[in-house]
Amino acid sequence: MSAATFERGYNALKEQIDAPIASFFSSCVRCGICAEACLFFTETGDPKYTPIYKLEPLRKVWEQEYTLLGKFKALFGLAQKLTDAELAEWKELIYNGCTLCGRCSMVCPVGNDLVYMIRRAREGMVAAGHAPEGLINASKRAVTTGSPMGIKLPALQAQIKHVEKDTGLKIPVDEVGVEYMVLLSSMEIINFPEYLEAIAKIMQQAGKTWTIASAAFEATNSGIQIGAADIARELVSRVVTAAEKLQVKTVISPECGHAYTAIRWEGPNLIGRPFTFKVQHILEVLDEFRQQGKLKTSGFDSNRLTFHDPCQLVRRGGVVEQPRHLLKMIASNFVEMSDHGKMNWCCGGGGGHSAIEEAHELRTQVFQRKKTQLEELKVEKLVTACANCRIVMEEGFEAYEMPMPIVGLTEMLAKHLATSNESN
Ligand code: SF4
Ligand code: SF4
Repeated sequence: MSAATFERGYNALKEQIDAPIASFFSSCVRCGICAEACLFFTETGDPKYTPIYKLEPLRKVWEQEYTLLGKFKALFGLAQKLTDAELAEWKELIYNGCTLCGRCSMVCPVGNDLVYMIRRAREGMVAAGHAPEGLINASKRAVTTGSPMGIKLPALQAQIKHVEKDTGLKIPVDEVGVEYMVLLSSMEIINFPEYLEAIAKIMQQAGKTWTIASAAFEATNSGIQIGAADIARELVSRVVTAAEKLQVKTVISPECGHAYTAIRWEGPNLIGRPFTFKVQHILEVLDEFRQQGKLKTSGFDSNRLTFHDPCQLVRRGGVVEQPRHLLKMIASNFVEMSDHGKMNWCCGGGGGHSAIEEAHELRTQVFQRKKTQLEELKVEKLVTACANCRIVMEEGFEAYEMPMPIVGLTEMLAKHLATSNESN
């Protein structure tokens, strides 16, 4: 990130306005329907959290720079120019008041992709110096250490040793020519080591070859979250270089929603060419193993449980049916949340939100939506497939005194893997 100034921010906003953004602004009919889709509006009732309103600085630049009306207004001194103070004010709306969940984009009657616009507006905010401290620090750590939480290779190596000791299985590192390269998020390395253990057991049962790349094991892309394409590109490039060097066929994005969006959907655009390998979320891979008859389970979890769909998986990725197929194999009392699947509500901490300390109170407030969804169902357990959602929901449960276990689906499946003589 170069030195930030208002001028750089203004120019960055101007550069972000492409044909889709111009057409989205021109076609907005100001109906306000997007507000009802956004948990920051529904849970606070504050109209400032209306998604299209969060884009006001970008809209102003579009009008001033690219429309006839804007040019006339400027000619007659009627234009209200964007100011640095305005950008400073909007920082709260664009970061603290948005998780890039994409729910607003699903409901706009004229098809405006609001989350695409917010993601682009963040590029201008960073260039102008109005990004949250927590995200700036995470991005710096990602560039210097390879991980937004500062996790370096020795920490992963220590975890690998533990997993190898506990499972008796070898965790392959830097193996050339294998089928899968597995990425991990820092949160998994620090908080959920059971994910790596689960991968080792599942790959062993499925008879698949895989590896971790010591030069690029981190999946999280803080460049996408903060809105800094240069950082995002650098982080994607590291994964691409490692995957190509190891000649893997598929890179597996871990149980992390936004990492999947970053590497699968934004990745090729960021580096300006298609990948030479496939990218899949771990749930897509596991569902393929199921279809190939390579995932054999035994026994069922009889708890009344439900699944929280991570926003980036269902809305950007369309990974909706896979977790349900997998849950059917191991859960006998699975129930669906209201608005599940493509319209599921965000946990309240996506898009880098969980790294913004000053947004903690707001995050807890908007968690009421998830709380309501869960209370309606009276479930005993929650399953998800995103380490970030998991942490945010654990914090929410603590704040609202809701003692409920949360598990990752990959880990849950690994606990039900059949030995050679048994299967469901
Ligand atoms: S829903 Fe679409 S058309 Fe309506 S206000 Fe929001 S962006 Fe504009
Ligand atoms: S992306 Fe999600 S959080 Fe952001 S404005 Fe849209 S609905 Fe609200």
